[in-house]
Amino acid sequence: MSLIVQKFGGTSVGSIERIEQIADKIAGFRDRGHDIVVVVSAMSGETNRLIALAHEIQDQPVPREMDVLVSTGEQVTTALLSMALAKRSVRAKSYNGSQVRILTDDSHTKARIREIDDQRMQADIADGFVLVVAGFQGVDENGNITTLGRGGSDTTAVALAAALKAQECQIYTDVDGVYTTDPRMVDGARRLSKVTFEEMLEMASMGSKVLQIRAVEFAGKYNVPLRVLHSFEEGPGTLITMEDKVDVETPTIAGIAFNRDEAKLTILGVPDMPGVAHKILGPIGESNIEVDVIVQNVADDKTTDFTFTVGRHDLLSAEEVLNRVCSELNAREVRSDNKIAKVSVVGVGMRSHAGVASQMFAALAEVGINIQMITTSEIKISVIIEEKFLELAVRSLHSSFGLEKEPENECAD
Ligand code: ASP
Ligand code: MG
Repeated sequence: MSLIVQKFGGTSVGSIERIEQIADKIAGFRDRGHDIVVVVSAMSGETNRLIALAHEIQDQPVPREMDVLVSTGEQVTTALLSMALAKRSVRAKSYNGSQVRILTDDSHTKARIREIDDQRMQADIADGFVLVVAGFQGVDENGNITTLGRGGSDTTAVALAAALKAQECQIYTDVDGVYTTDPRMVDGARRLSKVTFEEMLEMASMGSKVLQIRAVEFAGKYNVPLRVLHSFEEGPGTLITMEDKVDVETPTIAGIAFNRDEAKLTILGVPDMPGVAHKILGPIGESNIEVDVIVQNVADDKTTDFTFTVGRHDLLSAEEVLNRVCSELNAREVRSDNKIAKVSVVGVGMRSHAGVASQMFAALAEVGINIQMITTSEIKISVIIEEKFLELAVRSLHSSFGLEKEPENECAD
């Protein structure tokens, strides 16, 4: 018998009717002989509702009490689902984070898991129980309730799967898998049957917000196979796994990622001398502003231009800092632009295939899109373009890399 950890998100347990449907599903897995540990989120909207209650009292609620409050959402779901399972004669037991003992540090509202005591769970599993564990919560070493940050139930599921050495961690949600790009933007977007942890991290950070990023990092670190599936539709979903588990003939590109969350700043006419990059980016960092893409040109007249991107919400404060730096450095001027977008092609296959960059640039040139900045990593090439061309860019790249087609070596699901 194999052990599977199954996590059901807020919409999957959003009503009694849905909880009953999930219970049917779990009972089915049980009939097929699987050992199951279920992790649940709060019913959809519940965490937001609780947070709003707290804010009616305090602008910045006491973090310790915030955790006591928001952790109740998941506890409700564990009990309801366990009852629904009992109704179907499935022996089930609900547990909250401190009972399992999911030990975390004491950073309330954003705690990190330190250790999981699996003894109690192992004993129950051996006794034939399905365990229904509250996601998102843990306990610190002094017995205080902690929570893991928004979307944290994904991390709970992966952590339990790692601790219990489960065969797979299945994340049931309202989409049927991870796509080559956003299907709302590109009709031909295709569900990937497999994707590597690294690719998923690059795709997730751009907004295919299927999984909490921390959960993917955790799964990669402990090598827990993760599968994203639709809660109410049959299908194989997307398996997120190690690179060597993905076929040798991996398609070069897994997907096209994008985001509109960045803005661009340029400081023109900066004296070209040692220490300038530090003088510009140091104060930006000190203001807690994260920088993403950076470009500095070679100077030909003792001055150079320096361009970088920051999160759009940081644009105003970054501009303030930069104006100060501009006069200190005797640079010419600061310009900013928040109508930009970042588009990336992502794929581990890039490591062994030359020419991905030129194919990308050719595809963009063909539709007349000007590239403002370029940055690359081992498995990703990103460009900054004008925001109004974003959809055109994503569609062109999706078709240029042949992502609509089922890769030939991949068996039909
Ligand atoms: N209920 C929590 C949230 O809404 C945790 C989760 O659902 O993963 O963020
Ligand atoms: Mg979620």
